[in-house]
Amino acid sequence: MRKTRAIAAAGALALALAASACGGDDADSTGESKSFAAGSTMQKLKDAGKLRVGTKFDQPGFGLEQLRGKPDGFDVEIAKIIAAQLDIPEDEIEYTETPSSIREQVLQQDKVDIVVATYTITDKRKQVVDFAGPYYIAGQTLMVKVDNTDITGPESFEDGTKKVCSVINSTPAINIEKYLKNKTKQLVLFDTYQKCVTALKSGRVDAVTSDNVILTGFIATSEGEFALAGTAFTDEPYGIGVKKGDKAFRNFINDTLEASFEDGSYARAWKVSAGEYDPSVPRIPTVDRY
Ligand code: GLU
Repeated sequence: MRKTRAIAAAGALALALAASACGGDDADSTGESKSFAAGSTMQKLKDAGKLRVGTKFDQPGFGLEQLRGKPDGFDVEIAKIIAAQLDIPEDEIEYTETPSSIREQVLQQDKVDIVVATYTITDKRKQVVDFAGPYYIAGQTLMVKVDNTDITGPESFEDGTKKVCSVINSTPAINIEKYLKNKTKQLVLFDTYQKCVTALKSGRVDAVTSDNVILTGFIATSEGEFALAGTAFTDEPYGIGVKKGDKAFRNFINDTLEASFEDGSYARAWKVSAGEYDPSVPRIPTVDRY
């Protein structure tokens, strides 16, 4: 017993020494300010003391505007974890509503520093932006009115008549197409999911398709009006969008995510946001350092 403890103590000391020898870019336990390579995006952001984040403003659980310009949700919590590693206080994060159709654009035009917006990592998107993560794996599914028994999965749209709503430039809008016999008639697209929810309420469409976690948020806030139909039929790995080519910044975000998986801040972020609708902490994904 005593020997085990002595070995453990020696191990801890060795780890502490190794950590202090690494020094440099990481936070240290003395609370001293971190330093990054001169000219790096991290150092520039730290010097500016402000982080510009593109996120959703209409998705309960992931990004929903509360006070003007101040959203809350899991994506917002992830942004706060990143800001903290840059020594940027929460109230210095500037949020910009970023619907699916403009996520690449806001990065390319340097309107935001990062996009954390239920943003699936895809090869096509990687041609114009880069992604850190994934930090969460969602899956596409369908939401209907509770009394709807006709729609049980994407195959239900193969009849060529039922209508489904999704969002412009979202992966669900693309993925559902192969199940539609008459795309022009069956697929209704808006810029935000909230507009799809309104269309479902009014009966203009029979279903909304998006990621399970997004739909779960709408169901939880619908007072029993909506339900999921069928199970997830795709994998949607959520990444943090950054400007293309900034590998050091991407590495920094990946390091930050991995540390958050270990130190409990990721689990805490889930608990205070999407965990309200789904208390089980998500399966930790493997970060893809492509
Ligand atoms: N995760 C999917 C996407 O990035 C759907 C959710 C969304 O539109 O934000 O396209």
